Amino acid sequence: MIPLSRPHTAVNEEPYIRDALHSGHAHGDGPYSGKAAERLRAISGADGVLLVPSASHALELIFWNMPEGAEVVMPAYTFPSAANAVCRNRGRVVLCDVEPGTLNLDPAAAASCVTAETWGVCATHNAGVACDMDAFTELARKRGILLIEDAAQAIGATHSGRALGGLGDFGCYSFHGTKNISCGEGGVFLQRASDESTLDLARRRREKGTNRHQFERGEATCYSWETCGSSMLLAEINCAQLMAQLEELDAVTARRNSLCATYAERLDDLFISGRLTGMHVPAYAGPNGHGFHIRLRSLDERRDVQDRMASRGIACLPHYVPLHLGSMGKELGYAYGDFPESERAWETLLRLPVFPAMADEQVDIVCGALREVLS
Ligand SMILES: *Cc1c(COP(=O)(O)O)cnc(C)c1O
Repeated sequence: MIPLSRPHTAVNEEPYIRDALHSGHAHGDGPYSGKAAERLRAISGADGVLLVPSASHALELIFWNMPEGAEVVMPAYTFPSAANAVCRNRGRVVLCDVEPGTLNLDPAAAASCVTAETWGVCATHNAGVACDMDAFTELARKRGILLIEDAAQAIGATHSGRALGGLGDFGCYSFHGTKNISCGEGGVFLQRASDESTLDLARRRREKGTNRHQFERGEATCYSWETCGSSMLLAEINCAQLMAQLEELDAVTARRNSLCATYAERLDDLFISGRLTGMHVPAYAGPNGHGFHIRLRSLDERRDVQDRMASRGIACLPHYVPLHLGSMGKELGYAYGDFPESERAWETLLRLPVFPAMADEQVDIVCGALREVLS
């Protein structure tokens, strides 16, 4: 059986976890948390870095800043986390279609959705391939709105050589078991600018609405309830595993990119003949090999190929069900037909297995099976 993905195992994982286990510091913001945050600051280029239990939590912290009833523009073809974060903070989710090539939010469509009520635009870097960040930065600047990057899949990926996650006003990475760097469940909140008051508010919300971080640093003799908050810290054992994984980020990214390049090479004739459509990676994007996908001709063909690959022991899966096709999307007033590129992506896209421990021979097996299935 070849799985779609499998978490990477880092050399220092076990020693670091053992160390954390016996350190006497089990909760969040311990030594490994500090080291991992420092590393993530270097990786992302963001000034404010807060480790949280998931990217979904990071997005909740980001959208906690929005005024009630304000709008956030985001792609229909994305994971529900950003939409949940907007709903939970009593904002309005405004969906837009994606570009046919990258399947990232279409800048022109997003611009046409911006109104006087828009608080921000949230762009997902799909499969670790950068959005058109120049266009979104320009849109945010011109219209006076915030730019948020859902970089959950994008650690180690770049736009024009600059790290994704640290380019918008706010961003996040996910360390879920299916992502390039993982600690089982985990995430990070990223704030680009050094704006102490905004960052301090996020710190308080994350620490049960208290100024505990000041108490821990010896800046206050006690801590008290200062704002409406929650509990959003990542435990020390998770941070220890995360630190070990972050040390191997470059190797993981290189291996994943190499597997994707091998797929592209092995399937080249099928892309040229038009039998399959491949991934589009714009010149500005430096991807992180998070995933490799093909596009089939129809929903029926995609389902058939998926089933027949599964019967050969190879897990190939579609990706997001567009947000407007779920019950929540319908409740927001959307319907099938509203976002054709997102619908086509759901219907025709199939993700092929990619994980660092995958051997080149396994890529050959997947490609061989795919040729059989398609012939
Ligand atoms: C995985 C993912 C998330 C959620 O990440 P968690 O850490 O599991 O909360 C959000 N957005 C995108 C685009 C993702 O791929």
